[in-house]
Amino acid sequence: MVLSCLDSRVPVEDVFHSGIGNLFVARVAGNIVNDDILGSLEYACKVSGTKVVLVLGHEYCGAIKSAISNVKLGNITTLLDKIQPAVKMAGSKFKGEKTASNEAFVGEVCDANVMVSIEQIRKRSPILKEMEQKGEILIVGAVYNMKTGKVEFFNDL
Ligand SMILES: [Zn+2]
Repeated sequence: MVLSCLDSRVPVEDVFHSGIGNLFVARVAGNIVNDDILGSLEYACKVSGTKVVLVLGHEYCGAIKSAISNVKLGNITTLLDKIQPAVKMAGSKFKGEKTASNEAFVGEVCDANVMVSIEQIRKRSPILKEMEQKGEILIVGAVYNMKTGKVEFFNDL
């Protein structure tokens, strides 16, 4: 089960060379977590027997950049609010320019945002947390590298 951004450059099934019937995919701008996404993850794992939840961020994410720039626009505002904790988390450690035009900072926020989503899954879904603790599922994070086409997994979550 992959929770990914909706970015057209990250077609999840293609990224993982998988066909019909292989992956559950939930896509939402900025791969954030909300109640319906949690319900979808719980369905995939508890009902359908999925063994791995992967939160997949990606390079050059427009949602991440917009959150850094504090964009306010319609319903996008509420969506971007969910990325703000990652902007703060990355910003507290980052030494350079904390802007959307700084690729290094955008990358740090992207990583932090994947971690925030994983934290949110554990905190807000007792079902998935319990499954993880019992060793029935893994909850992992990764970032899709657009230059190489590789999915870079985080090691220490
Ligand atoms: Zn994106």
